[in-house]
Amino acid sequence: MVRVRFAPSPTGYLHVGGARTALFNYLFARKEGGQFILRIEDTDIERSKKEYEERLIEALSWLGLDWDEMYRQSERIKLYQETAEKLVREGKAYYVYAYPEEIEKTREKLLQAGKPPHYNQDLLKEFDTPERRKEYEKKGLRPAIFFKFNQKEYSFHDLIKGNITFKEGTIGDFALLRSNGMPTYNFAVVVDDADMQITHVIRGDDHLSNTLRQLAIYEALKVPPPKFAHVSMILGPDGSKLSKRHGATSVEEFRSRGILPQALVNYLALLGWSHPEGKEIISLQEMIEAFSLERVSDRPAIFDIEKLRWMNSVYIRSLPDDEYLKLAKPFLESTGMRCEDEKLLKIINTVKDRIRELSEIPELVEYFFKRPQVKVKFEENEREALKQIIESLKNTEWNKKEIVKAFRKPMKEHGVKSKEFFHKLRIALTGREEGVELDVLIEILGFEEFQKRIEETLIS
Ligand code: GLU
Repeated sequence: MVRVRFAPSPTGYLHVGGARTALFNYLFARKEGGQFILRIEDTDIERSKKEYEERLIEALSWLGLDWDEMYRQSERIKLYQETAEKLVREGKAYYVYAYPEEIEKTREKLLQAGKPPHYNQDLLKEFDTPERRKEYEKKGLRPAIFFKFNQKEYSFHDLIKGNITFKEGTIGDFALLRSNGMPTYNFAVVVDDADMQITHVIRGDDHLSNTLRQLAIYEALKVPPPKFAHVSMILGPDGSKLSKRHGATSVEEFRSRGILPQALVNYLALLGWSHPEGKEIISLQEMIEAFSLERVSDRPAIFDIEKLRWMNSVYIRSLPDDEYLKLAKPFLESTGMRCEDEKLLKIINTVKDRIRELSEIPELVEYFFKRPQVKVKFEENEREALKQIIESLKNTEWNKKEIVKAFRKPMKEHGVKSKEFFHKLRIALTGREEGVELDVLIEILGFEEFQKRIEETLIS
């Protein structure tokens, strides 16, 4: 059975690159009838934070990517320690009684001597003295455990990148366990992927070079490695790796701007993958049905915020009224714009076709809640017509049809030119040059508000 995992380190918010990795794993698992595992890689105790873990989980749930099993590496330390000890017993790894600074110094010395900075057991042996062992014992420290890297060429077939070969002599021995008992990233990943019976590792190609160390560890553990699929990076419009510099990059930021999860998922799916029929607006179900790793490109994808915003506008337009209202409400309430649901829906519907992010709504509909501070000069005949319009609106049924009707006669009687008049009226009522049709606007404002706004803006 296909088993894949998304393995974020809780050291920051969920980046769109991470979200795309999660999505590809999820789609592949669902397509193959397999399982999708969430593994929190929190062994870097200094950088990992519970808060980040919670936010990661929240962001993944918001995207709708549900997982079948969840693990935390910090709860599996014993397994890493036991596995490392086993490798020591088998002669495939060894204890190192050196402090990190000493290990670093050894590296510098090698570099100074013009040698490649590769560790080996002989080099690190110098620290293993009886005094040092005693000192470690007294301080309650454990020796680090280093892996004896088997010097040879390693190669594998990547499902996206094709055949990859790592030449002999590019790395030396490396740590599996630190002296604080924590595993290194490469070791924990292999122990877990093996233990969790992961069949496919789909991850960013920034991890491609780590695959060498991981292959060597699989070999030492006598476990066949999973299949690998390294997805190319997401770049900003300038061709450099997508980062804060390019604007919003975390899932949370997009969420808070009012990008819908369906739109973000749809957009991310197309960053590196394409639908066999070239479809652009695709539901999660359709993605699952059509997903394959063969259609994942080996070239980097460019993040195009305008395309995401366009896609979001398509999803916003297709929202049913109640959903749209529910999603838009917090954006309005946070800026103090409140009224009863029925009216609020009418208000937000005036901009539904225009917005690309829900966060654009408050600015666009502000005038419904706040009278515009404007003065408008109406001509004598226009003022007369307005008086009559107000009179007849006062006694009419309040709907668009009657509102339109109430304008006709007075305008005709006073010879009012509609284009100019309506333009002035719009400014008087909204303070803006353009926007929703006047009849819709007046209907939403209601009679009293309409009258008030006219009277307050009139200058004779
Ligand atoms: N924890 C790693 C990261 O956050 C991912 C490990 C992997 O996918 O192999 O980048």
